[in-house]
Amino acid sequence: MENLDNKVLFAKKGIKNTKQRNMTYNILMQENLPVTAELIFLKLKEADEKISLSTVYRILEVFISKGLVIKRNLSEDNMAVFEINNMEHKHHLICYCCKKMQVIKGCPLGAYEKILQEQTDYDISGHRLEIYGYCPDCKEKK
Ligand SMILES: [Zn+2]
Ligand SMILES: [Zn+2]
Repeated sequence: MENLDNKVLFAKKGIKNTKQRNMTYNILMQENLPVTAELIFLKLKEADEKISLSTVYRILEVFISKGLVIKRNLSEDNMAVFEINNMEHKHHLICYCCKKMQVIKGCPLGAYEKILQEQTDYDISGHRLEIYGYCPDCKEKK
């Protein structure tokens, strides 16, 4: 399934448009949340695509190098997750148990950054924040 938007986007970024790159990008778009390379790999397999996990990683590296995708290492267990770089500032709530992630609306740290900047004379350029807990489903099972 060819996505015309991807084709234009890839051309703009100087990325060769291949079927597997297209599919990988579509999966990231559809998930709309940080996902592991393994999950992308499984989805591609489901779609009957003959691909190896290392190829998925290589595709992701290309996307990252062109600024299309962001890689995050979740501090908890060093698991790497990937998501579309939509330039939107956001934070995630992550379940310890099932690793489900959801986007937290808004950012509580804007004012704090300003205070910190004044206190430390740092030029503060950003932050990362992930909040962990047990989701309603897992809480019930506990
Ligand atoms: Zn959970
Ligand atoms: Zn923030």
